[in-house]
Amino acid sequence: MCHLCNYRNGTIAPPGNIIIKNKYVTLTHIAPPEGFPGWILLYPARHVEKQTELTSEEKNKIVSIRWYCIEVLENLTKTDRVYEILFSEKTKHIHYHLIPRKNTVPDAFRGGRILEFRETYTEKEIAEFMTVFRERIISLAEFRDEQ
Ligand SMILES: [Zn+2]
Repeated sequence: MCHLCNYRNGTIAPPGNIIIKNKYVTLTHIAPPEGFPGWILLYPARHVEKQTELTSEEKNKIVSIRWYCIEVLENLTKTDRVYEILFSEKTKHIHYHLIPRKNTVPDAFRGGRILEFRETYTEKEIAEFMTVFRERIISLAEFRDEQ
């Protein structure tokens, strides 16, 4: 079983724990040393390796939840850009990186080079960000009924 499935089923604790999950998606934070606080991973609840394997219902839910996450990330971080990336090469379970690119990120690391950008941060910082993010995201109807 892949580590994203293990995060979801509780076998492995993701950094800062699960932000939120419902029957369609799981949201967790990227693990240090990669990324920075606010860098979210959003993935389908089922182990799906290709976007074309998602059901229509999953696609619709993922799109609406993803857009809401982007809006929340933009508001919380006051960034000019929230990047959205899907590779799923090393971890085959499809997962969207939602990256609120800080306005302080140097030009050399904007765009695709954001993947090389490193910042020292702690699990406590992740947890603090996640608490605020979760409070906002939970207002989305998709999650409200699941709590
Ligand atoms: Zn999986």
